[in-house]
Amino acid sequence: MNELQLSKRLECVANYVTEGSKVADIGSDHAYLPSFLYHQGKITFAIAGEVNQGPYESALNQVRKCHYEDVISVRKGDGLAVIENGEVDTITIAGMGGALIVQILEAGKAKLSGVTRLILQPNVMADKIRIWLKSNGWELTGEEILEEDGKVYEVLIAEQGNPDAPYSENKAVQLLLGPFLMKEKNAAFQKKWRSEIESWKRIVAQFSEAKQTEEVKQKKQEFQTLIQNVEEVLST
Ligand code: SAM
Repeated sequence: MNELQLSKRLECVANYVTEGSKVADIGSDHAYLPSFLYHQGKITFAIAGEVNQGPYESALNQVRKCHYEDVISVRKGDGLAVIENGEVDTITIAGMGGALIVQILEAGKAKLSGVTRLILQPNVMADKIRIWLKSNGWELTGEEILEEDGKVYEVLIAEQGNPDAPYSENKAVQLLLGPFLMKEKNAAFQKKWRSEIESWKRIVAQFSEAKQTEEVKQKKQEFQTLIQNVEEVLST
């Protein structure tokens, strides 16, 4: 990867950045995403935020190597703390777990008032992000799921709007699978959820062998319902 060539995963994130945006890429590491976006002429300004020294230095080196210092500001700090109010209209956070992304958004809520678009790429637990967006006035406007090097990644796009808009009945399943992804059901989606079902089935088998306390019976029932709901989505 470099400023000319991103991974398929980060390219998917880049595709959702609109022309002329000002972007904060939080947890930017090497700053390839903002460098690529500027090289493409898509953005006018970016902040590459990093909390850790090593990745912060590699972001600085990358930006210096490209002579992009005037347009990409590399800043060291935790989450959205590196942004001043009104500096950016788009925030990208990629390559972390969903729980950490939620933690960053929650802690930085005050910095989100002028932001019109979030592009979030959790490696796991995308459902935690959907739940946070829905409770915080953000409308999920698009989703992607893709496979790269044997791993499946999700990308969630959100804008300020009606947080209930993408959801209808059976919200719990939609929050877990993604309302857009479960309509499309592409190969990566099938792969991810078939593999989850297999691991849930192993858990159910372990519960069946355990002492049948009320708690065990209840947990087993919860997993069986989950398996049934997700199998139903995959088969229709
Ligand atoms: N965004 C890049 C990508 O998708 O390829 C790098 C992902 S890397 C796996 C995650 C980066 O997030 C690390 O460089 C880590 O230092 C940074 N990070 C983790 N927690 C952070 C936080 N609270 N604020 C800023 N950066 C954070």
